[in-house]
Amino acid sequence: MNPMDYIRKEPYELFINGKRVTPEEKATFQAINPVNNEPFATIYKAGRKETEAAIDAARYAFDKGPWGKMSPRERGDLLLKAAELLQERLEEFAAVETMECGKLYGSAYYYDGAKSVDALKYYAGAARCLKGEVVPIDNDTVNMVQYYPHGVVGEILPWNGPFMMGCQKIGAILAAGNTCVVKPSSWASLTMLMFAELLKEAGFPDGVVNVVTGSGAVVGDILVKSEKVDMVAMTGGTATGKAIIESSKDTVKDIALELGGKSPNIVFDDVNVDEAVKWAKFAFTLNSGEVCVSGTRLILQRGIYEEFLEKLKAECEKAVPGDGFDPDVTLSALIHKEHCDEVWRYIESGKKEGARLICGGEHYTDPKLQKGNFVPITVFADVTPDMTIFQEEIFGPVLCVTPFDTEEEAIEIANGTKYGLAGGVFTKDMKRGLRVAQAIKGGQIYINSYFSKGMVESPGTGWKQSGLGVAGIKKYMISKTIFIDTKDGDVPF
Ligand code: NAD
Repeated sequence: MNPMDYIRKEPYELFINGKRVTPEEKATFQAINPVNNEPFATIYKAGRKETEAAIDAARYAFDKGPWGKMSPRERGDLLLKAAELLQERLEEFAAVETMECGKLYGSAYYYDGAKSVDALKYYAGAARCLKGEVVPIDNDTVNMVQYYPHGVVGEILPWNGPFMMGCQKIGAILAAGNTCVVKPSSWASLTMLMFAELLKEAGFPDGVVNVVTGSGAVVGDILVKSEKVDMVAMTGGTATGKAIIESSKDTVKDIALELGGKSPNIVFDDVNVDEAVKWAKFAFTLNSGEVCVSGTRLILQRGIYEEFLEKLKAECEKAVPGDGFDPDVTLSALIHKEHCDEVWRYIESGKKEGARLICGGEHYTDPKLQKGNFVPITVFADVTPDMTIFQEEIFGPVLCVTPFDTEEEAIEIANGTKYGLAGGVFTKDMKRGLRVAQAIKGGQIYINSYFSKGMVESPGTGWKQSGLGVAGIKKYMISKTIFIDTKDGDVPF
């Protein structure tokens, strides 16, 4: 396979109202391969005019088009067709994702790809399982609670896993009956443009899914502030989430935010150390640490502290960095030079603040790796809660290890940041495992594994500053309660 065969030579247009659209100003940006920092595709950048055209298209499709008249079963059938088409073209999507994000191809195909298809199938079924409630408030009244689509949803995506997250979110948006304007990250826009065209091929009416590429400051901001957009959902950093809370306030629209994390992974000293070491490494190095739920703070009981660190170092040093298309490579490049520089700044801050460097922390010297955004797996031990690397999300393959003695101390350390996204507990004592899992402030906790079990049917909500709003299909729906009086009689009071 030559991945460049999947890339168009001409610039990628926006996708609005079922058509490719060239923006009036013809401004462009580049898709850049993180492995060598070479541009490999050109993408048009939307301005206000195109963003508003996309919103109008989604508005029309929701208010007046055939979409609003379709039954949940019909919407589900279209999603199933999309899943089938995506399965046929998975190699293409996974190759483009690998080139754009620097991912391992195997992971882009078998993990992100498989989960994308699965999400579309799941939401096809979920559309048909939508239900309301009847509340028995008194004997003379039938009180129905119904769930409606919001209308037009602005979906703003991040760059890590853009293809999988896009499919999961668009699947839920459509199953619920909304239309949408999708704004992918400028560092990873191609797969969503491809996906919008695939949805048209699957039979989705024009205007139901529009993709507008460009900056958060222009496209994202217009979506958030527009009175014609009923809801905005954003997955990204906590700082961006706070900016959206601020800029959405004049329209009082519904917002849902899936934000950053700094998740704790607590390991007690009764574990099988060799096995727990492998999980601990997996937890913070998957996708080179560019995963929101990464277990980036290892909270390690003192009895096994040095033995664990030694074994973890040996495990981390096995990583093979390189091009994600090479099947021998196990450590991918980070998405962008700017982000890579930021990760290096955190590594320097860890050294300056006095954390003990166990492995990594120095630039690769291999000439083959000099052009790409490579960071070796880096482990800092003796990290204390006052250090920047303990508190802030780094979003790279960097682990902070902190020792503890008692269960209470472990929980206090675990809950000691502003984030509350995920967490892990490793112990043979299941009573303790459950107790600790319940005490960790976070929306997704794993006992004796990490992350690999997460499926689209299990909601993961962000606690504290890791998010706002519920997960899954209900996120994209709004309730209405209707009271029917069954008795003739006087008006009370
Ligand atoms: P980001 O916050 O920089 O950008 C996210 C999106 O918001 C992008 O499309 C960006 O263009 C847009 N944006 C930026 N400013 C905006 C504004 N003022 N108004 C509207 N839109 C704006 O995040 P990122 O760097 O792309 O992604 C990494 C972050 O995403 C990490 O913090 C990670 O933890 C988080 N994330 C969270 C989850 C989750 O489920 N909680 C999942 C994946 C990623």
